[in-house]
Amino acid sequence: MKIKKRIYISLLMVSMLLIAGLVTAVWFLLQNREVLVGRVVLTIIVSIIALLFLLVGTGVLAIIIMIIRSKTFPSLENFTRLANELLFPAALFTGRLAGISKERILQSYIAVNNYLVESKQLVLKGPQVMILLPHCLQDSECPHKITMDVNNCKRCHKCCVSDLIELGEKYHAVVKVATGGTLARKFIEETKPRGVVAVACERDLSLGIQDAIQIPVIGVLNCRPNGPCVNTSVVVADVEKALQAICKGG
Ligand code: SF4
Repeated sequence: MKIKKRIYISLLMVSMLLIAGLVTAVWFLLQNREVLVGRVVLTIIVSIIALLFLLVGTGVLAIIIMIIRSKTFPSLENFTRLANELLFPAALFTGRLAGISKERILQSYIAVNNYLVESKQLVLKGPQVMILLPHCLQDSECPHKITMDVNNCKRCHKCCVSDLIELGEKYHAVVKVATGGTLARKFIEETKPRGVVAVACERDLSLGIQDAIQIPVIGVLNCRPNGPCVNTSVVVADVEKALQAICKGG
């Protein structure tokens, strides 16, 4: 397990312990205030929280086991999804309290997600896979409207879009360029890919991964030599590696 993944997994566990401590404290405080909250109501609330805690705990444990064994367990995937959905905000909050930058936490979350997707050992055909690119990869002075149709790119190689289109052709994958989450969602709804290789910044990738709950998404971080959202780039070999993890081409 690399250090990056450990950050997110540790934060998940610490968040669980903090929530458990908080619930126990509230339980003890409210026990003597039966006028405010009836004992039966209190018991029901605590039972629901305990059940949720058990489900989320199973999810966190499943993530750890899957990473250690480098293997996914389909029967536990719903638990891992629930753990990520419910504990992600708490893990971010706990991480910030511990002085870890949001960027590092998100990088760790993306690394965990990628590892879990890779461990599914998917063998998709090229057309079942979408390479989803952010608009900021395009050279800011390029006049061609590649969000409408990526084939409008004239392949002048001034930016990495041409290389990524060629990569898509090599694997017969669908290549789309989105200006934001709404367009990305539209592309996914229209194309219905069985797997996505998405390039973006930490924030957009983690939001996208959570958005596309039922679709495995491998995230590749972009490089931002000119700051965020303008003339960004990506290591094409990293995108190819991500593609190879879920796609056999053809
Ligand atoms: S490679 Fe394509 S998108 Fe990039 S600047 Fe050239 S024509 Fe525009």
